[in-house]
Amino acid sequence: MDCIFCKIINGDIPSSKAYEDEWCYAFHDINPQTPVHILVIPKTHIASADGIDAENSVYVAKIFEAIPKIAAAAGLERGYRIISNCGEDACQTVKHLHFHIMGGRRLPENMG
Ligand code: AMP
Ligand code: ZN
Repeated sequence: MDCIFCKIINGDIPSSKAYEDEWCYAFHDINPQTPVHILVIPKTHIASADGIDAENSVYVAKIFEAIPKIAAAAGLERGYRIISNCGEDACQTVKHLHFHIMGGRRLPENMG
């Protein structure tokens, strides 16, 4: 499958790893929008939040268990934002479910 995030999981495309376990992989965004900008992705191909179902939602649960550890390791004790862009109106560019963990400075109140 021609998916860049599947290739990152497989090691076919290099990435800057922040965290990994059997369910998810986290790496630093190549074009960071905040001082800390990490992406967390499931180790199975789910196209977007629209593709979450009863069979694969365990990956999402495991990602959210990992996020506090990833945030703590990145020094985000003052807080952070979790974003997942889903579909065209949200400007999703990579069609493999991912959660942006963003922080390291005060973020704007306005989200859209
Ligand atoms: P989205 O627009 O929500 O689909 O987010 C995709 C994100 O993936 C963007 O923030 C990109 O900067 C990031 N991205 C794309 N390719 C790579 C890559 N090879 N390594 C790290 N981050 C990437
Ligand atoms: Zn994929």
